[in-house]
Amino acid sequence: MKFSGYGTTEWQAQGAYVENPAGEKYLDCAGGYGMFSLGHRHPRVISAVKNQLDIMPMSAKVFFNRPMADLAERLAGISPGNLKYSFFCNSGTEAVEGALKLARLKTGRTGIIAAHNAFHGKSLGALSATGREIFRKPFAPLIPEVVHVPFGDTDALKTAIDQKTAAVIIEPIQGEGGIVIPPDGYLKAARELCTKNGALLIADEIQSGMGRTGKMFAVDHWNVEPDIMCLAKALGGGVMPIGAFMGTPEVWDAFRENPLIHTSTFGGNELACRAALETIAVIEDEDLIANAVRMGDYLMSGLEEIRRDFPDIVAEVRGKGLMIGAELTKEKFGGSVIMEMAKRKVIGVYTLNKPRVIRFEPPLIIGREEVNICIKAFLESVAETRKRFS
Ligand code: PLP
Repeated sequence: MKFSGYGTTEWQAQGAYVENPAGEKYLDCAGGYGMFSLGHRHPRVISAVKNQLDIMPMSAKVFFNRPMADLAERLAGISPGNLKYSFFCNSGTEAVEGALKLARLKTGRTGIIAAHNAFHGKSLGALSATGREIFRKPFAPLIPEVVHVPFGDTDALKTAIDQKTAAVIIEPIQGEGGIVIPPDGYLKAARELCTKNGALLIADEIQSGMGRTGKMFAVDHWNVEPDIMCLAKALGGGVMPIGAFMGTPEVWDAFRENPLIHTSTFGGNELACRAALETIAVIEDEDLIANAVRMGDYLMSGLEEIRRDFPDIVAEVRGKGLMIGAELTKEKFGGSVIMEMAKRKVIGVYTLNKPRVIRFEPPLIIGREEVNICIKAFLESVAETRKRFS
């Protein structure tokens, strides 16, 4: 962290900026790996949480819980297809755990298909679906019958899927895998293959959801309707931890026999649900999805110009909305670019499963001025990196 220019302490934050104890401000272009879609401390979410704190922060777990019910209803209204039901938990990896369990319960099968380089979390079940050996190997054996296929390859999926497959779990746009957008038609084909084989399609929207990619959910770019969808990160507005997995009534029916078969003490607490309800309202009221498209296009074109001028350092710029990756030509350039950006008070980070990709996931509230700061910092950092290695 010190080498990368982060040898300081975070102290306070507001909007798109994080401040250290010395009062130095950093523009947050990493956005907490997709958590800070509303920026830091959005006043409406802070206020909603403060109000709820004075009423009832945690659920007694026996009565009807109004904020949780309201949130489930709200999510059902904005999600693709017929995802009418939600289970609330406290993180992304928990949402994936629940989704995998539900898929097994519903289908009575145990096979899971995931993608190479996928990132679904690091608890044991989710880690089994995560597709990077460096995270998996020390904890082997993981859960059995999980296979990985190349992301975006319909033929590979067709070969792998069979009557033993409970679910195919996919990030509609891979985040930690290096901001990878599948070919058009891939997710639709995955949907069809699942339906044909009696398997469920799980969309992991933990990073790509809540407006990040210029649609409320990334599957909306291709009009694909999953059977189960996982959410977390930005759902809590950058104020409260909350995760969720959602499902269609048909799938949810599996919980009917024993509703206590999957539970969480903290999951669905009033505080987190209030934060999530306010987050959805802010996304709509402030038209943040449209801003993600506008600022995303603007940022992409700025980064693309840098790629044209520095093809020896930047290989490719890709993304949708404000989920953008700049792939460097060599992994060794990553540390230098990040360090130089930090020197210029811009927070940039690489993707976990592909360190040569610098990710840009700034808050959806940013304007042109902040995007200009980000582009300038990246330009100078790339130029410094060329000098350093030439
Ligand atoms: N799924 C995806 C797509 C993610 O990007 C992440 C985290 O980066 C997770 C799951 C795991 O979420 P968490 O870190 O909240 O457990």
